[in-house]
Amino acid sequence: MHELAITQSMLDLVLEQAGKAGAKEVGKINLVIGEMTGVVEQCVQFYFSFLSRGTLAEGAALSFTMVPTTARCEGCARHFELREFDWTCPYCQSDNMEIVAGKELFVESIEVE
Ligand SMILES: [Zn+2]
Repeated sequence: MHELAITQSMLDLVLEQAGKAGAKEVGKINLVIGEMTGVVEQCVQFYFSFLSRGTLAEGAALSFTMVPTTARCEGCARHFELREFDWTCPYCQSDNMEIVAGKELFVESIEVE
């Protein structure tokens, strides 16, 4: 159920921005979602369609940019895409790494009319 709370807070933010811009309607919402958040696109879409009902954002198109989980190896300093359950560097086999991308979860921009 965590998509419900996430979708609600995104919608609140979008409506706040649209209100400030004096928009009549929100046409499109660009979202950035990191793979590590576990957020499922279809769930957000589903919750959005009923949460946005009767608001400026009703009928807005959602655009998702999914960010793969990326790590930086502490051993060889290379960046690579982290596969689930495989926490070793493909270059030097070190398991000492830092997550540098994949935890993103934000509204990148909105298009209003
Ligand atoms: Zn390495």
